[in-house]
Amino acid sequence: MKKPTRVNHPPAVHVPPDNHPVVAPIYQTVKFEFESVEETVRSLRGERPGFFYMRAANPTTRQLELTLASLQDRDDCLATASGVNVIAQTLIGLTKQGDHVLGFVETYGPTRQIIRRLLGRFGVTHTLLSIEDLPGIEHALSTTPTRLVMFESPTNPVTKIADIEAITRLARRHGAVTVMDNTFAGLHQHGEYDVDYFLHSLTKYASGSGDVMGGAVIARAELLKPLRAEFSVLGGVLDPHAAFLIQRGLRTYFVRYREQSASALQVAERLARHPAVARVRYPGLAAHPQHALARAQMRDFGTIVSFDLRAGAEAGRRFTEALQLFAKTASLGSTESLVMAPQMLKSRDLTAEQLVISAVTEGTVRLSIGLEDRDDLLADVDRGLAAAEA
Ligand SMILES: *Cc1c(COP(=O)(O)O)cnc(C)c1O
Repeated sequence: MKKPTRVNHPPAVHVPPDNHPVVAPIYQTVKFEFESVEETVRSLRGERPGFFYMRAANPTTRQLELTLASLQDRDDCLATASGVNVIAQTLIGLTKQGDHVLGFVETYGPTRQIIRRLLGRFGVTHTLLSIEDLPGIEHALSTTPTRLVMFESPTNPVTKIADIEAITRLARRHGAVTVMDNTFAGLHQHGEYDVDYFLHSLTKYASGSGDVMGGAVIARAELLKPLRAEFSVLGGVLDPHAAFLIQRGLRTYFVRYREQSASALQVAERLARHPAVARVRYPGLAAHPQHALARAQMRDFGTIVSFDLRAGAEAGRRFTEALQLFAKTASLGSTESLVMAPQMLKSRDLTAEQLVISAVTEGTVRLSIGLEDRDDLLADVDRGLAAAEA
């Protein structure tokens, strides 16, 4: 073989069967082949295990999918390129023209856009309620045949808690499937509830490092089967290198989640004691309006603390800009702390009535608490509060 041929057919290196890598290697390859056409065809028909094309499956991504499924107490998972991608692909994959979707005002903004704009264009109708309105949910489900209920808990940004048992029971009774964006609660929580499809942005707690994006839908294998075919043609596949980074992030997932949650509680308590603060929302705080429900559903309460400054938006801006350890940006669940000022939390797609339901006020600030030293974080929050009062 001449050199231009050799660089395109590099020598195979076989690891002996009794010789195992401790960390699985990255299969950074789009294509896999079998030795015969017959085995290729058998594999494509699903009659034997194996891989063919990265858009359908890849061993590195598959390892991540199996890890995620077991963390969420289900047996199958499909990983995708981002959190919004998995929301879009799942909702497209589960609906058809004429279907009705029940969604909620207290929902990640892009999820509302997917339901209203994207699905709406294809003739899927929707109702948007408050996540706290159980009678409204029951009424909607019993009067409008509904394909699916899409909800999250705790909600973004004010950490309202959905009554998962009640919502899944009502959906089941009326023949709707439930899709729960479980990003805020994390992969280790809520698995015991009768949720059909769990969605996650892996960009957040799973990776933890804020340097990679990913999404996942986790469910029983038979529920994922119809989605698998749709996902493979929609094509929002997770790259194996990103899958590797997320798998690596998961090694420290529990330590991070618990440590950061413990810091978040202390920050919430510090804020709650301050006269400039009208209201603190952290599910682990006894004063949270749904603390009892949060305690019943969750073991760890997450890293998101939101609070309302009495003096409003300008005080929120001063608070935000005085912080030294918090990056003024979106996202959550990474090891560095983040802050969103009131000006950054405004939703432009909500009516006045929906804005009230959203519970986001002129003075709402959202924090995501990172892995910095706890005393340093508390001192930084004090600095912000002093600036807010100035
Ligand atoms: C961030 C986020 C998403 C979207 O995830 P990306 O990975 O940024 O696309 C979806 N849902 C929730 C609750 C999120 O916080």
